[in-house]
Amino acid sequence: MELALALVFGLVIGSFLNVVIVRLPLGTSISVPRSHCPQCRKQIAAYDNIPVLSYLILRGRCRHCGRKISRRYPGVELAAGAISILLYLKFGLSVEWAIYLAFCAALLVLALIDVDHRILPDPITLNGIWIGILVNLLLPQPSGFTTRLVGWSGADVSNPRILALIGSLLGIVLGGGLLWAVGEAFYRIRGIEGMGFGDVKMMAMVGAFLGAPLTLFTIMVGSLLGSFIGLALIRFGGKTREYELPFGTFLGVAAIVAVLYGDALIGFYIDRVIRPV
Ligand SMILES: [Zn+2]
Repeated sequence: MELALALVFGLVIGSFLNVVIVRLPLGTSISVPRSHCPQCRKQIAAYDNIPVLSYLILRGRCRHCGRKISRRYPGVELAAGAISILLYLKFGLSVEWAIYLAFCAALLVLALIDVDHRILPDPITLNGIWIGILVNLLLPQPSGFTTRLVGWSGADVSNPRILALIGSLLGIVLGGGLLWAVGEAFYRIRGIEGMGFGDVKMMAMVGAFLGAPLTLFTIMVGSLLGSFIGLALIRFGGKTREYELPFGTFLGVAAIVAVLYGDALIGFYIDRVIRPV
């Protein structure tokens, strides 16, 4: 029952995200006008706007003009539904579930807007930084990394909120700083703007939510993913080396993996790869 609720809620969120992904980069209102077919401009009735189901019932075509509806729409809805279920399996129906669902929803929006426009809008990334800090202050999660680092520095901090705040700030500095440094190095060496400042702000947001270890995980997984897909696009997709990859997309996917499985994967890596050496 709760699982079904998590799924339906995720699908509805996904339906809303579709609207945000299309309208936010255009600067138009998210709430008005009501959804319409991008091709014939006819308004979409509520009964034709049910996540995934309507797409299946209409066989992927607009009721009015019969032209194809992008598979992106049910895809985003299914992705949000799946993320909601996976978060439910991790956190149950809890405040954590709601917060991380909102965070992953923001990442999904950033990932797809970056694919479409090669931008990562400030209203999401900059507000995300503040919200990430607030979440850590209000719902402090114990972090072995921050506790050890603070202990090692000799500071006497035991308040979980202060520790969580320090963890969040470390994540911002690491996430934003690392991407800024890579972009700067890229610019010095090749003389081209390899990374927009949007990526820097996006990783500061990820750092604010997830803290330093998972932020490093996100950057590593995102870079690996970007390298593989970049090489595949050059090799098989007919793209040249000058093709600009949507790095924010890979970072977004990696950050969602970090939320769901980052701690488990880092633990696995330390136990199986680092310790035996
Ligand atoms: Zn139409």
